[in-house]
Amino acid sequence: MYDYLIVGAGFSGCVLAERIANESGKKCLLIDKRDHIGGNAYDYQNEDGLLIHKYGPHIFHTNSQKVVDYLSRFTKWNEYEHKVLALVDGKYIPVPFNLNSLHQIFRYEKAIHYEKLLLSNFGYGSKIPILQLRNSPNPEIIELADFIYQKIFLNYTLKQWELEPEDLDSAVTARVPVIVSHDDRYFQDSFQSMPRYGYSAMFENMIGNNPNIELALNTDYKSIIKSVQYKKLIFTGPIDEYFDYSYGPLPYRSLRFEHEIYDYEFFQPTGTVNFPNNFEYTRRTEMKYLTFERSSKSVCMVEYPLPYIIGENEPFYPIPQVVNNDLYNKYARAAEKISDDVIFCGRLADYKYYNMDQVVARALHVFESKIIDK
Ligand code: FAD
Ligand code: UDP
Repeated sequence: MYDYLIVGAGFSGCVLAERIANESGKKCLLIDKRDHIGGNAYDYQNEDGLLIHKYGPHIFHTNSQKVVDYLSRFTKWNEYEHKVLALVDGKYIPVPFNLNSLHQIFRYEKAIHYEKLLLSNFGYGSKIPILQLRNSPNPEIIELADFIYQKIFLNYTLKQWELEPEDLDSAVTARVPVIVSHDDRYFQDSFQSMPRYGYSAMFENMIGNNPNIELALNTDYKSIIKSVQYKKLIFTGPIDEYFDYSYGPLPYRSLRFEHEIYDYEFFQPTGTVNFPNNFEYTRRTEMKYLTFERSSKSVCMVEYPLPYIIGENEPFYPIPQVVNNDLYNKYARAAEKISDDVIFCGRLADYKYYNMDQVVARALHVFESKIIDK
């Protein structure tokens, strides 16, 4: 008899398994339908010995010291501050759009004029979500905001979500606000680093060789749920799947990744290049910027957005929209009714657009509030 059956060996499942095994000293069975641990953060070495993030590039950043302290038990870090350029009107300009982008895209006098306008209205260092900037009472700020909206946000968002920015929760485009500074970094968090030996090595240190954790890969929970004896279930897969889609399927976005291998030391000028207005893909990431590997070859990952189709591809992104959140809330209420038996936790189980650090924080909170001492 296991104390816990944990479905999903991604960040959520691994953090909870580690805490339950080491802090509570209880036994768990951790399963995943995939053939590896790590969930969407899983990485592996390709035939050239270069580290690949199988499910798209994952860059770690956080303001939570608690999360850093926790993960640092399982990995050393390489400091890495991610930078992104977007191809706009034939030029590569920094994203998030900032004062440097302004000067690269407009002639000098116009750029200075807009710069003064932003500084006097918002102040140096401020961050303004694009949808908020477009609502400015100042017609010249609206003119600039409309330019940024058209050139950076509209077509990228249509590709990524098949929706216009206004049709999504405003928090989605607010992830990449206009920044009134010369800071070219994609993230401004206090801690920005990559696990030195990769995410999979970190997960291995978290849950490997632990007598309280039994791992079963290639195992869909439906195939074993009736034959395994456990006291409590932790579910980190899609919440709608758990309830057999009884209120209808929750929508997700998926992606197809293409790996390009180049006989160059470096192919592009920075970690990620975004293509808001060109091509069917949204962005290209060159892994060596993230991994610090040295090689005469280089791998780039190109992301093609797709609708999610159950059984055909992966549910990568919850789609933050009022109608979907309402549907999720029906599942959340059903989850509440069985909360003595089942705990839901994770990006798919909570139907929330979490970053990795948020998922770790959420799993630690679930452990501390619902599991420890119970
Ligand atoms: P997952 O990693 O999705 O793990 C859930 C696991 O459950 C999966 O392994 C799945 O196989 C398993 N599972 C599902 N159903 C079943 C079943 N029926 N039976 C058994 N197992 C099942 N975050 C960042 O902070 N920085 C980034 O740069 C970043 N980049 C990203 C890029 C992409 C393309 C994507 C999709 C996400 C990115 N994220 C990033 C977010 C990050 O991947 C997630 O926050 C994190 O991986 C979520 O962990 P999780 O354990 O909740 O879910
Ligand atoms: N976005 C955009 N243009 C860009 C970058 C981002 O329109 O050049 C929008 C788009 O809607 C995207 C969202 O901002 O989905 C969040 O971007 P982020 O890079 O955080 O997405 P993720 O890394 O999670 O895919």
